[in-house]
Amino acid sequence: MHYCPADDLGMVGLLDDLVVVASSITQTPENPHWRAAPRDAIAESREARRVVTRPEQTPNAHDRSESGISRWILKPARESLMFAHRKKPLFPVKVGEVNPKFAQKLLEQFGGRSGEFTAMTEYFVQSFACDKPAIRDMLLDIATEEIGHLEMVGLMVEQLLRGAERESAYENTLFSMMGKGPQFCDSLGNAWTSDWIRASGDIVADLKHNVSAEAGAKMAYDRLIRQTDDPGCKETLNYLMTREISHQRMFLKALDTLGGITAMEGTVKPEAELNTYYNLSRDGRGDQGIGVDERGPWNAEGEWQFVDEPEEKLSAKVEGPGA
Ligand code: MN
Ligand code: MN
Repeated sequence: MHYCPADDLGMVGLLDDLVVVASSITQTPENPHWRAAPRDAIAESREARRVVTRPEQTPNAHDRSESGISRWILKPARESLMFAHRKKPLFPVKVGEVNPKFAQKLLEQFGGRSGEFTAMTEYFVQSFACDKPAIRDMLLDIATEEIGHLEMVGLMVEQLLRGAERESAYENTLFSMMGKGPQFCDSLGNAWTSDWIRASGDIVADLKHNVSAEAGAKMAYDRLIRQTDDPGCKETLNYLMTREISHQRMFLKALDTLGGITAMEGTVKPEAELNTYYNLSRDGRGDQGIGVDERGPWNAEGEWQFVDEPEEKLSAKVEGPGA
């Protein structure tokens, strides 16, 4: 609410818009500290951004103009809208039978680690620090698509629970205590956490993470599809799973433009040990069921320096400060 320190007119105007929206809902005459910037300057700034703010043009339930508290209600011009909702899912959502147990499993894709909410917030947050305009645009396209996915999963959960109080399965699920509709938790009832989001500020690191995140989403849908016989559920989940594969490919293609999967994140160059392979798991005896020693392209001669007995090589002295 305290935006007075900002002396940039555009910034003041923008913050003011946010304050006005909040104030129109929450402010009271006892707490009128919300408007501290010069009103004329703000109005001018709004005019420049083509925002209509006259009270007579805003017949709105939240307009408290009579109390004198919120005399300016934000009414953005159409082209300034950032997000819009259309009541039309990306793909038909049609669940055949009520199934509370499956609804609970499906929560994994609503409020779970690899779920749609994680994907949506993750790509959205990553886009801010992305300095490659085309990749930033892709992140925003995919983030917005993920909101659509979130809605579809939510609709499925709701349909799977319709009239579920009569089902014995309902008694065994978290819905019987937390209420119907999708909860912001995973299939085990763990609350969604922003700890699941990675936005490193480095687009190479983020894209590598996104490839893995989409693999997680693919696997979750894969498992869900195998656990339902409902054709409607299967079809919708198959659509969602397919899109996650598409996203994974888009992220890989984007990574290709930056040097491919071996592109380096950060700016500090690696040292000489880059192509060294340490053979640290040895003495494999397949006949005893504890694995074998094998080689592959990840430690091939020529490209890689294969160190068969690294203990000898890795025997540098540990020296503390002042040694
Ligand atoms: Mn998705
Ligand atoms: Mn995705």
